[in-house]
Amino acid sequence: MTIPFQIYSPVEEIVDPFLLNKEISLFIKRDDKIHPFISGNKWRKLKHQLEYAKEHNIKFLVTFGGAWSNHLLATAAAAAQFGFHAIAYVRGEQIRNPILDMCRIYGMELRFVDRNSYRDKAEIFRKNHSADEFLFIDEGGKSELGLIGCSEIVAELPQEYDHIFVAAGTGTTVAGIQLGIQQNNKATKVHAVPVLKGADFLKDQFIEWKIDPKNIILHNDYHFSGYAKVKPELIDFIKSFTCKTGIMIEPTYTGKLMYAVYDLINKDYFKPNSKILVVHTGGITGILGHLDHF
Ligand SMILES: *Cc1c(COP(=O)(O)O)cnc(C)c1O
Repeated sequence: MTIPFQIYSPVEEIVDPFLLNKEISLFIKRDDKIHPFISGNKWRKLKHQLEYAKEHNIKFLVTFGGAWSNHLLATAAAAAQFGFHAIAYVRGEQIRNPILDMCRIYGMELRFVDRNSYRDKAEIFRKNHSADEFLFIDEGGKSELGLIGCSEIVAELPQEYDHIFVAAGTGTTVAGIQLGIQQNNKATKVHAVPVLKGADFLKDQFIEWKIDPKNIILHNDYHFSGYAKVKPELIDFIKSFTCKTGIMIEPTYTGKLMYAVYDLINKDYFKPNSKILVVHTGGITGILGHLDHF
C-alpha cells in the first residue's frame, strides 16, 4: 500500500568560483525540499515503515529520540498527515524546546525517559505496547525498510557522478545509497561523513545490512569533537556557504558534510573534472538549537 505523497527533490549545481578554480563540479540533491519537517532522509526512512503499518492496519507509531531529533519531528508531522497517532520516548529529563513543541502541535505524545532506561528501546516497547497495534520505529528511523527507502535516491539522479557524499548518523542513509548504487550498476564512489566521534561502529552496521563496508568511504575527521558539537570554523563555514549559495545548512549534519567536502576539494583529494554529488538530508530546524553560536 503506498502512502500518497508526491516529492520534489531536484539536483542543483552549486556555483562558486572556488569550485571553478579547482575544476570540480559540485551538485546537491535537495532532499531538504521534500517537506519542511518530514524532511530529507527522514521521509526516505519512514516511507516503507509507514506503508508496512498501513498494510497491517497499525494505527500507532512508537519511536525514540533526543530532544532535538529531526526524526521525532518528521514522525510527528508524517503521523498527522497520513492518519497515524505517534508516541515518542524522548531521552532525558522533561524539557521544552521548539522541536518538541512542534511535535506536540502535530499531536505527538511525548514520554520522557531517563537516559539509563532509554538505552533499551526494545524493552520500553515490549513493556508498554503490543506489536499488533503499535509499530516500533527505531531512533533516527534506522531500519532495513529505511535502507530501501534511501536506495531510491539513486534512481532519481539525472546523471552519473564520480562521488556521492552524505552525512551519517546511524548510517542508514549512506548504506541505502550504496545499495542503490549496486542495484543500478553504477561506478559512483559512496562517501559518508560521520557526525559522531568513533564512527567505526558503522562498519558492523553495514555488515549487518549485507553492505560491504569496503564500498563506503568514511571520512572520520569531521565530527568537530562529537555529535552536535561545533567549533567557530564550522559556524563561519556555514554562514559563508549559506549566504553564498542560498542553501541553508545546519551544524549537526549538513554543515559538517559540506565542510568536509569543501576541505577535501581544497586539499585536492579529487581528480580535476570530478563530478561530486552531495545529498542535502534536510533537518534545517536543527539550527534552532545552535542559534547562540551565530
Ligand atoms: C538524521 C539525519 C542524518 C543521519 O542519517 P542516518 O541515516 O542516520 O545516517 C543526516 N542528516 C540529517 C539532516 C539528519 O536529520
